[in-house]
Amino acid sequence: MSDDAQRPPDNYPRIFVGTGSCGLAAGAAGVFDAARQWVREASQDIHLVRTGCLGMCHREPVLEIHLPGRSRVVYGEVRAEQVADLLTRHFYQPELEGVPQVVGQRAPDHESRPYENVPLLTELAFFSGQRQRLLARAGRIDPHSLVDYETEGGYGGIRAALGMKPQEVRDRVRRSGLSGRGGGGFLTADKWELAASQPDGQRYVIANGDEGDPGAFSDRTLLESDPHAVIEGLMIAAWATGASRGFIYTRAAYATVIHRLEVALAFCVKRGYLGDNIFGSGFALDIQLRKGSGSYICGEETALIATLEGRPPMPDEKPPRPAQRGFMGHPTVVNNVETLACVSHQFVTPPDSADQADGGAAATKLLSLSGAIARPGVVEVPLGTPLRQVIFDIGGGVGGNGNGDAARKFKAVLVGGPDGGFLPASLLDTPVDFAALRAVGSTLGSGALVVVDDTACMVGLARYFSRFEADASCGKCVPCRVGTTRLVERLDRIVQGRATRAELTTLEHLCGVIRDGSLCGLGRAAPTPVTTALTHFYADFEAHIAGHCPTGACDREQTAGEA
Ligand code: SF4
Repeated sequence: MSDDAQRPPDNYPRIFVGTGSCGLAAGAAGVFDAARQWVREASQDIHLVRTGCLGMCHREPVLEIHLPGRSRVVYGEVRAEQVADLLTRHFYQPELEGVPQVVGQRAPDHESRPYENVPLLTELAFFSGQRQRLLARAGRIDPHSLVDYETEGGYGGIRAALGMKPQEVRDRVRRSGLSGRGGGGFLTADKWELAASQPDGQRYVIANGDEGDPGAFSDRTLLESDPHAVIEGLMIAAWATGASRGFIYTRAAYATVIHRLEVALAFCVKRGYLGDNIFGSGFALDIQLRKGSGSYICGEETALIATLEGRPPMPDEKPPRPAQRGFMGHPTVVNNVETLACVSHQFVTPPDSADQADGGAAATKLLSLSGAIARPGVVEVPLGTPLRQVIFDIGGGVGGNGNGDAARKFKAVLVGGPDGGFLPASLLDTPVDFAALRAVGSTLGSGALVVVDDTACMVGLARYFSRFEADASCGKCVPCRVGTTRLVERLDRIVQGRATRAELTTLEHLCGVIRDGSLCGLGRAAPTPVTTALTHFYADFEAHIAGHCPTGACDREQTAGEA
């Protein structure tokens, strides 16, 4: 555990190793150990720091070096056995000529000198189209450190909010236009106002970090890299709504997230940032960490509350909404962790700054890029950025660092997880925006973008995601429980070349029944991969009716299954 009390002076050289889940999966633990060994042998005063992820999952493991008076340099795809040589050359070879694996340097400040012939990170295609507000600290600071967070203005937001009346805080969030980043895009201020207006004096706030969509990992990145930003946002939400207890709810499988939140919360309690009389204001707040029950449906707010109460993860009918009657029957605000990070960002920036306009031109959205894309990772772009720019300029288009092949062509992108369905190349100029995506039958949802190349069969993919939805169904209502199973059976017949053309019509009818009759958002959105595949890739379905898979993917899968 990092401890700010033992922190070396800031003028020490510093080595940072990205230890988000993506970095750890690529070997960051070995890189960190090798760096620690080199520091021991170098007998120098050097500060070795574990950070989160700066979003470049395609360059992990990432190592950064900051020498006093010089810019901070980022190295990528570093292997443990390369660390000693890399560090020696960086520390003793002033202009880094010939040092391999340099990705770029961070912008120098007034005290530091840049390196010649090393590009700025902001000049790289991956970063130049981004606008990093919520990710500004990701991969740069020690996620546990209160000093690092506060040096960047952290916990200034809750201090500012505590100087305002709760109604003033809610009004400011309303003026910002902030909408929930977890999928629905509802106005955050409406939810807060509804909870605050309830006569029940016992209220709760919950940070929803139960990220379960295939291809979504931006919440994980945020929580691993900058957990205090989410804690601070939850504190502001609690003050604005009159809550005295809060929960941060995340997936049990997110071990690194859980560890970092445990440490961050413990430091907050130790320093008196949580507990009674926070910052001498009289405001009291207790925040506890809870692990999701492992089911996809736990991310639905009423199912999440059910599991907190010890009930099975099944959604409840709405209304009443959780903000009216939620945890243990009391008004409860459930906000996505990205929404809460937006809140803390708003209150840290000066009042009336354009940066606060979370519903306007300055608003950003975190996106997880994966699939057949050259540069997978987590990015933050202004709302309104065209999908084409995200996928091709920032993500590098179809390529090999994910699971793709640069020689292939773009075929589709799954937007916002299964709920958003597939969009074809002809809709790539659609802006990343809640309303614009709704208008083309999709949703921004979790912010996952899974790129599909032309080797994929859309019928096979529609079946894959329909199976996911059928497995995820909690079983409470018939249209979803039975309907998704029937959907998979019909898609099986089409994939296997046993279906008739008339069955495509019944498939569409079944999708409508599931969408219109299901109780919660999971069921209502479950047919979307099928309906969007039918809309945009009907030829793939017709080919199967005619007896062949147009890409051969389904034939290969069947052959593999029979072998
Ligand atoms: Fe459960 Fe599906 Fe009904 Fe939602 S729609 S309550 S997930 S069965």
